[in-house]
Amino acid sequence: MLMESCWNFLRNSGRPERKVTLAILGLDNAGKTTTVQSIQGENPEDVCPTVGFSPVDLKQGQYDVTIFDLGGGEHIRGMWKHYFSECHGVMFVVDSSDVQRMKETKDTLAKVLRHPCITGKPVLLLANKQDKEGALQEADIVDHLTLKTLVKLNKFRYKIVPCSAVMPIRKKAIQGGLEWLLKTVGRGYNTINERVRKDTAEQREQEEKYRRERAERVRKVREDR
Ligand code: GDP
Repeated sequence: MLMESCWNFLRNSGRPERKVTLAILGLDNAGKTTTVQSIQGENPEDVCPTVGFSPVDLKQGQYDVTIFDLGGGEHIRGMWKHYFSECHGVMFVVDSSDVQRMKETKDTLAKVLRHPCITGKPVLLLANKQDKEGALQEADIVDHLTLKTLVKLNKFRYKIVPCSAVMPIRKKAIQGGLEWLLKTVGRGYNTINERVRKDTAEQREQEEKYRRERAERVRKVREDR
């Protein structure tokens, strides 16, 4: 245990351990789960594999990272907002080969970015499925997503990374993107973390209030009967 702590201290040059929560978002079939699996593959000894809505935990240098893979089906998207307060940053996966769904992708991204618990936080855009024929290039995706306008509106740092979650050579780009995201979160860590703390506390309070009100309504209905 002591040896392990010393090793962690040396490896991180004495920098404090930091907890970072990320959400991986995007339409269904964009490649979110495959991307998470690919990231886990880069750090096999540090992985606690999980399924579905369960968070995935992994260690990246000084960061204890939790990734929420929230699913992207139209009905599930409504649930995303319940997790936003906890997130320090966002990974947004785009199926670059699905031109038909670019408008839906853009609308979904725009909605995420303007949410008060997300706006201004760093965003890694993964232009996935670059191995597929007809996949859009980075510049085309920037246009389709109206990224420059979204940046002006929501003032966030972003990096767009063309990648393929299924091709080993392209997977490295995902790892590089994740490192960028963690470094960017790390630079503004105190501010972002304070925001996460405050937003999460507020959300818990609201949920608690809602639960109490609902319990009270149920109690009244029973009394009236
Ligand atoms: P999710 O719904 O966003 O979680 O998407 P999944 O990770 O389940 O992937 C949906 C489908 O796309 C699966 O059949 C994956 O194998 C496939 N897929 C994911 N990433 C890539 C990629 O980079 N290239 C190709 N060709 N297929 C991919």
